[in-house]
Amino acid sequence: MSTRTPRTTNAAAFAAAQTVIPGGVDSPVRAFGSVGGTPRFMERAQGPYLYDVEGREYVDLVCSWGPMLLGHGHPAVVEAVHAAVDRGLSFGTSTESETALAELIASKVPVERVRFVSTGTEATMTALRLARGVTGRNLIVKFAGCYHGHSDGLLAAAGSGVATAALPGSAGVTEAAASETLVVTYNSREELEKAFAERGSEIAAVITEAVPCNMGVVEPQDGFNAFLREITQRHGALLIWDEVLTGFRATSRGAWGLSGEPEGWTPDIWCFGKVIGGGMPVAALAGSAAIMDHLAPLGPVYQAGTLSGNPVAMAAGYATLSSADDAVYAAVQRASDAVREGLVAALDAEGVDHSIQRAGTLFSVAFGTSKGGVKDYADAQGQEVFRYAPFFQSMLESGVYLPPSVFEAWFVSAAHDDAAIGTVLEALPGAVRAAAAATPQG
Ligand SMILES: *Cc1c(COP(=O)(O)O)cnc(C)c1O
Repeated sequence: MSTRTPRTTNAAAFAAAQTVIPGGVDSPVRAFGSVGGTPRFMERAQGPYLYDVEGREYVDLVCSWGPMLLGHGHPAVVEAVHAAVDRGLSFGTSTESETALAELIASKVPVERVRFVSTGTEATMTALRLARGVTGRNLIVKFAGCYHGHSDGLLAAAGSGVATAALPGSAGVTEAAASETLVVTYNSREELEKAFAERGSEIAAVITEAVPCNMGVVEPQDGFNAFLREITQRHGALLIWDEVLTGFRATSRGAWGLSGEPEGWTPDIWCFGKVIGGGMPVAALAGSAAIMDHLAPLGPVYQAGTLSGNPVAMAAGYATLSSADDAVYAAVQRASDAVREGLVAALDAEGVDHSIQRAGTLFSVAFGTSKGGVKDYADAQGQEVFRYAPFFQSMLESGVYLPPSVFEAWFVSAAHDDAAIGTVLEALPGAVRAAAAATPQG
């Protein structure tokens, strides 16, 4: 029977969820832990708007953390998904929809093989296994503050020194798993040179976010990504390029369009997610045939997935990515610029010290960082974090749904029209005043 208890308030929905789901959420940031207040339980979405169980409308500046590039309920996507559902939800066999989406991805970035999985976590986890399988080496280098999903070795936090074993970044991660990850400071060529000087022959790969967006946006310094390409090649290690967030979102060519493409180089293993599923659980790893064919069934590196390449999910991804033409990216960039410029104007009007970090259509704000901006995780953590919660709450009250953490990028879609942007611009001055009035004690 399809009955459910009607939930009339967000508070009631959250209370009910907490009795049966740990913390009431299936992904921690949704719990509003760093901004306080009651998480909003959404009922539906359309275009640039979200609607919660109380019937309140919000301009959506999260866009499901990236996938909703076209906005919610785009007709082409809805139609493609309905048609796929009518044909069958899942067959446990191959379908042509996988080939179609793989070909589409390979037409946009220089990859020869694409393997679909269901989450970004699986994509990066498999990329590490593949890099180890290809090189026969064990160590992985990652950057402090870069997020690559929640597999054990990638939840390692920085240890006391460079090129020393990392510490487990979560309860339940063993020291053994963490010890195979070296954590270095983002944008630090010196630390990377040192790590390779000391352990180079053991390093299978460097994994990096193409532009870090999970400590807020942090711009790679000029030539930093090209340096990663060069130093990995020099030492026989692979470069794993995590575009789960930025892929087909930062620009039409992802963050690669900002560095690798203009500079004329490619990484070894790409990881995609978010936009390539258009709101369904799809992610992928991709690269040259020479590397990717190490995966089973052709090669010795095992990887599998019951629902990998699910036909309904493939349909959503294909419809989204094939609809994402130049006009869509121009609209997303226009909306991003309007929101960012409005934010800067409001912050300047109140004299709130800040910096804005950008990556194509993506940006984030950091408070109290105008001197030097944010170039690594220590800078991000050193900002005036306390200003964000009152800012966020004020925006929410005014009908704007921001990421519930300062350490996240802001996302817009091609559906963010003048009316939606107008709501954001109207909300900003009050929220900025709340941020200006905030004190570290709260
Ligand atoms: C979101 C994200 C992931 C993890 O993807 P999930 O689908 O949440 O597992 C990995 N890397 C980056 C850069 C991400 O932003």
